[in-house]
Amino acid sequence: MTTVVPATEPPVARAGDPGGEMYALMTRLYPICRSITGDGLRETLRIIAEYIPLTIREVPTGTQVFDWQVPREWNIAGAYIKTASGETVVDFRDSNLHVMSYSRPVRGRFSLEELRPHLFSLPDHPDWIPYRTTYYTDAWGFCLQHARLAALAEGEYEVCIDASLGDGHLSLGEVVIPGRRGEEVLISTHACHPSMCNDNLSGIVVATFLARHLAVAPREYTYRVLFVPGMIGALTWLALNEDRLPKIRAGLVLACVGDPGGFTYKRSRRGDAEIDRVMSHVLRTSGRTHRIVEFSPDGYDERQYNSPGFDLPVGALSRTPHGQFAEYHTSADDLTLVRPESLAESLDLVRDVLDVLEANRTYQNLSPKGEPRLGARGLYRSMGGRVERAANELALLWVLNLSDGRHSLLDVAERSGLTFPVVKSAADALAGVGLLRELER
Ligand code: ZN
Repeated sequence: MTTVVPATEPPVARAGDPGGEMYALMTRLYPICRSITGDGLRETLRIIAEYIPLTIREVPTGTQVFDWQVPREWNIAGAYIKTASGETVVDFRDSNLHVMSYSRPVRGRFSLEELRPHLFSLPDHPDWIPYRTTYYTDAWGFCLQHARLAALAEGEYEVCIDASLGDGHLSLGEVVIPGRRGEEVLISTHACHPSMCNDNLSGIVVATFLARHLAVAPREYTYRVLFVPGMIGALTWLALNEDRLPKIRAGLVLACVGDPGGFTYKRSRRGDAEIDRVMSHVLRTSGRTHRIVEFSPDGYDERQYNSPGFDLPVGALSRTPHGQFAEYHTSADDLTLVRPESLAESLDLVRDVLDVLEANRTYQNLSPKGEPRLGARGLYRSMGGRVERAANELALLWVLNLSDGRHSLLDVAERSGLTFPVVKSAADALAGVGLLRELER
């Protein structure tokens, strides 16, 4: 368990640079009380829709999704605990983490003894408020600072949770950016956490700005970016889109991508999917601190996408992973934990990964008997400076050698130890003089 050292002052949200803009959006979304259903989630999706052409789909309570059902919709107007003398000791207006998400409505007087089983705190971090949920069991509770809990005197308390649980809808946000091919790349982030930044606003803002970036230029693949409530939202989307799933060539779940820690990539269940190989190549050649871990059926919605009935090639990208920073699922996961430059670096990394995925072609060498005369075609000793030229010339030889129809440019990069962009420009040069023919992917 590492504590991510927060800055002393929250950074100023600036427009004009991606990190600053993402941070500004995060600052705007931070106060909203989100849950797996309800107006907070809806309001969040509506704000995202100001940035990208988001389609918001409302799925009714009770809709069967595999082994689950879309739950009742939860909304909350306010909540408090007051002493008998009318002094407020916990107020939802101070922090939406104070109420356990999906608490049923409560109004009444309770002794401290009766109240205690409904109060949750963190003795190790007495000034932090924990984040708790009770989505699928009928319960209620308050989360509060341990210091405040410890100071509660014996006596009677007035308790109010002004919430509603009833038939309604679950909201799904989705943006589709059509590409030249029918094959799709899925980007998914959960959008159901109340006021916490790394988990989960960081994933929301990076996915939003990624969608905006992808929409600027024509793409090879179709991109589908999802903003869904964790677990039940991903399952609902999967249930509604089962016929589309065979088209998914690659996917990424984004979460906890705003803290200053190094990157962590969790492979897909397959372990050697193209996205796994592209991600490890890009991370390795980026020089950025990172860790690659094998798939495990926990974490975020990768566990749904990688369940055996789907087995989609979807990996998961984080910086410091969930549960491995002390502020995780507490009020200390706030705007000081996330840095604009970390958001920007995460966005850059995903853009680089998608660039490689887009450009990862397989070629056939059309002059495979011996080395073709590169000098005669203007390719040898004509590109770049001295050191760069050596790498470029080597790249030409590697691409020619491995372009037997069975190796992709990523295979060439991996086997040669060269970076993907160097291999890609060698292939472009060779294709430009008619030495390579691109094969169907
Ligand atoms: Zn979480």
